[in-house]
Amino acid sequence: THFGFKDVPEALKESMVKGVFSSVATSYDVMNDAMSLGIHRLWKDHYVKKMDPHGGMQCLDVAGGTGDIAIRLLDHAREKWADRETHVQVFDINPEMLEEGKKRFAKTMYHGGPQVSFTLGNAENLETIADNSLDLYTIAFGIRNCTHIDRVLKEAHRVLKPGGVFSCLEFSKVTNPVLAKAYELYSFNVIPELGHVLAADRDSYQYLIESIERFPPQAKFSKMIEEAGFTVPKQEPWEDLTFGIAAIHTGVKL
Ligand code: SAM
Repeated sequence: THFGFKDVPEALKESMVKGVFSSVATSYDVMNDAMSLGIHRLWKDHYVKKMDPHGGMQCLDVAGGTGDIAIRLLDHAREKWADRETHVQVFDINPEMLEEGKKRFAKTMYHGGPQVSFTLGNAENLETIADNSLDLYTIAFGIRNCTHIDRVLKEAHRVLKPGGVFSCLEFSKVTNPVLAKAYELYSFNVIPELGHVLAADRDSYQYLIESIERFPPQAKFSKMIEEAGFTVPKQEPWEDLTFGIAAIHTGVKL
């Protein structure tokens, strides 16, 4: 049976999200490649290049899961800026996803070094992190899983230094109606099936597409970022990737 996430009481949602990611933790990377035909890698590369970490930045990668973004942030700083001072704190609510991240890092040059740390916690309450302490906050494909997006944004605003940047990579809305229809057919028919075949887990992937459907469109999300106190660049409040299948939103704490 497929659970309908919309009908679930709020208290249960958080533990259901945990369950979803516990069951997909080990198959997560393979599934990402299968579902997106590898395009998520290009999106993530572009995202990190755009954030351009360097100069010993203090970064927090929320919903950092398997470390995909954290590794890219450190690699970028090192390869482009010869920077080995930049630090990334990988932050995730799910211990299994964090474990995958640690395993991943164990195979890199950052293993055992001072540039990466891992914290278990909820994006809605960053109680272990001091006010005004960070240069860059990233959250990739994580915010739509959170129950209270407004609380996530408020916390992001609190922990960033003045001048610090909030940046979010998330599935978004395809604006072209023809492409939107094709994308809808793909996600509702192909993705749960791929989940079933590759990960023996149809329900978790059914949940993932429902969560994409529910997430606010670009303009609305941008407004929420402003409401949390950020200044959103007028020139480019967000950037659509692959027709808006995903989008990058940024905000600066002034
Ligand atoms: N950022 C990684 C990436 O881009 O590949 C992982 C994204 S994965 C789709 C979503 C992650 O969000 C999971 O690791 C999940 O445990 C985490 N997550 C879900 N709700 C969360 C919350 N309230 N606080 C922190 N992390 C959360």
